[in-house]
Amino acid sequence: MTQPDSTSSTVAPNEEAQFLPTDRLQLLIDALIADDRVVIGPTIEQQAIVYEEISSVDDLPRGWTDVQSPGNYRLEKRDDDTYFGYVVGPHSWKQFLFPPLTVVATADRESADTKWSMQAPQEDPLRYAFLGVRACELAAIAVQDRVFLQGPYVDPVYRARRDAAFIVAVNCTQAASTCFCTSMNTGPKCKSGFDLALTEIDGGFLIECGSEAGAVILKSLETDDAGSRHHDLAENAQQQAVEQISKTLDTGGIRDLLLGNLEHPQWEEVANRCLSCTNCTMVCPTCFCSTVTDVADLSGDHVDRKRQWDSCFNIDFSYMNGGVVRNNVKSRYRQWLTHKLASWHDQFGESGCVGCGRCLTWCPPGIDLTEEVAAIRLHDLRVPPEGSSS
Ligand code: SF4
Ligand code: SF4
Repeated sequence: MTQPDSTSSTVAPNEEAQFLPTDRLQLLIDALIADDRVVIGPTIEQQAIVYEEISSVDDLPRGWTDVQSPGNYRLEKRDDDTYFGYVVGPHSWKQFLFPPLTVVATADRESADTKWSMQAPQEDPLRYAFLGVRACELAAIAVQDRVFLQGPYVDPVYRARRDAAFIVAVNCTQAASTCFCTSMNTGPKCKSGFDLALTEIDGGFLIECGSEAGAVILKSLETDDAGSRHHDLAENAQQQAVEQISKTLDTGGIRDLLLGNLEHPQWEEVANRCLSCTNCTMVCPTCFCSTVTDVADLSGDHVDRKRQWDSCFNIDFSYMNGGVVRNNVKSRYRQWLTHKLASWHDQFGESGCVGCGRCLTWCPPGIDLTEEVAAIRLHDLRVPPEGSSS
């Protein structure tokens, strides 16, 4: 099967959208498993919708929805039986493409005279199929593609997993109060970057195809031709999500706004609430910071070099030359927000935020980055340009 091109927008091949009745959704999962893939999809665990390996439609959170606000998340029963009637949970697809803990090298002592040999582990990449990827998550994967694949260094772990991944996107038909993808131009409709895209409608799913690999899977399913009624239902369902999005982030001149207000009193104000707990960075689908440690076994003859997720909210993260550069919460929060929304533009030519809202929901004190930016914008401390009357 032709793998999806991970570095460019996928383009829908000449395939008409198809209709898959609800009682045939299992066929899609079966086809992906038959294609020798590990299917990862939404499921309920510890009272949250998370991404885990699934093998059956019974694993999906059918009839459940998530209710979210800054600092709050809870599941509720829906009054219907939809499979994808929720938004996004604490997990993102990052954990599968950029695992939280990876052995990136091993070293073994070859002889008593301290000669060592070093190897990079050669693992067969897992052939994942991601089921239920939302538009903001497609955008987040594209952001991480730029970080891990399109810079001067290509990350081999990410590359192998990304190349082998098959993506089944799902168009949002509802939004949470924490979503602001429309401000970031990342959703809620899935436009590119998928192999197949589903929209859940009355009686089944409208399926669009986004790659040759998707076309192969789609052909193997027992689908019906989609009629205008199916398209109208899908459009209405997608529009419903657009209309539910109430949160906004004014991105106009945001890079210069933030970098021009590094001494704004709002940073101190937010530091009084921020716990520096790292939750926002762990749940963020684009954050990519990591640290590397060498761990020797008890014999001292074998060492694993381990890479694990790190966070700019950890005090040791900015330790260098015998001291910590960002030794207070104010400087750590400011570093996070200005990187995400300002210097990310300098580094990667785009925003580091896709508007998924996870960092709002999973922040214990409910710090909302859209409100922090608005507060800075309201009292912009930059000196007005010469000649300005303001
Ligand atoms: S902003 Fe919230 S989630 Fe992030 S470190 Fe501070 S308290 Fe934790
Ligand atoms: S910064 Fe927050 S809203 Fe933006 S992508 Fe990360 S978790 Fe989502």
